Amino acid sequence: MLFLGGLGRSGTTLIERILGELPGVCGLGEVVHLWRRDVLDDERCGCGERFSRCAFWREVGIEAFGGWNADLALRVIGLRDAIERTRYLPELAAPRLRTVRARLVAEYTEAYLRIYRAAATVADASVVVDSSKHASLAFCLRWQRDVDLRVVHVVRDPRGVAYSWTRTRVRPEADGSAEMTRYPPARSALLWNAHNAAFGVLERLGTPVHRVRYEQFVAAPAAAVEEIRRFADLPPQPRPPEFLTDRGARLGRCHSAAGNPMRFLTGDIELRCDDAWRAELPAPSRRLVGALTAPLLGAYGYSLGTVRRPVPAGASR
Ligand SMILES: [Zn+2]
Repeated sequence: MLFLGGLGRSGTTLIERILGELPGVCGLGEVVHLWRRDVLDDERCGCGERFSRCAFWREVGIEAFGGWNADLALRVIGLRDAIERTRYLPELAAPRLRTVRARLVAEYTEAYLRIYRAAATVADASVVVDSSKHASLAFCLRWQRDVDLRVVHVVRDPRGVAYSWTRTRVRPEADGSAEMTRYPPARSALLWNAHNAAFGVLERLGTPVHRVRYEQFVAAPAAAVEEIRRFADLPPQPRPPEFLTDRGARLGRCHSAAGNPMRFLTGDIELRCDDAWRAELPAPSRRLVGALTAPLLGAYGYSLGTVRRPVPAGASR
């Protein structure tokens, strides 16, 4: 199971969509949101159908649980509130879990494990991709012995992330009735620190973590995908894979359960770095985000002042 982690608006949906085109890979979207948005609220799958009408997810539900039901979703949401929160990371990172918590974590992750297994069977895939992003879910899954958990940690320049969080966007899966969350720059900067640092901790605890910079990915996607392919032990591909060039990708239909509106896109898409923040993010916000994220910013190869050109994947630093 490949877990795509990082703070939202870092490019995880784009990367999941591209990985989902590889033979043997099944992208599931943000499974963490499936329980409420799909099972309870019947929002739209990436294929455009309502969740309850999507043949893929119906089959996965039957294979995993004998069918989806509201009681199951409410139980998992309740477990999530009890154990899978960023504030519980210190306990989840401890060498041992207390008995009660261990039981809850086992039950919670068992529900995900069943989905991963069922999706792999239904899609005939050897790797499933969950782009739930939240470090807290990855920290829970590390306790699940029956999951081969490998994390692709996606990092994006925090000023680009901050700019994206300030913009108003409608959630098409709710048929235009809801807007995506917005955060002021200082808040997204602090979240950026916390979420990215958490994946560093996860790596130190022994979970395999492969770090990808969004800017690097879009600059040289074929090389970045090849690195992830090797990390995930997927069979070799022609280089570059047919659907992918260094300027664009051809995306087929997907069954991404929840996430960024980009999951509804099909056909040819252009791959270019979204760096609108350089022109649009006001200088005081840019300086504030830079100051708040300075320690990790440097560690990931971003510069505080004039922005360095992204280093192509595979190039030596
Ligand atoms: Zn679908």
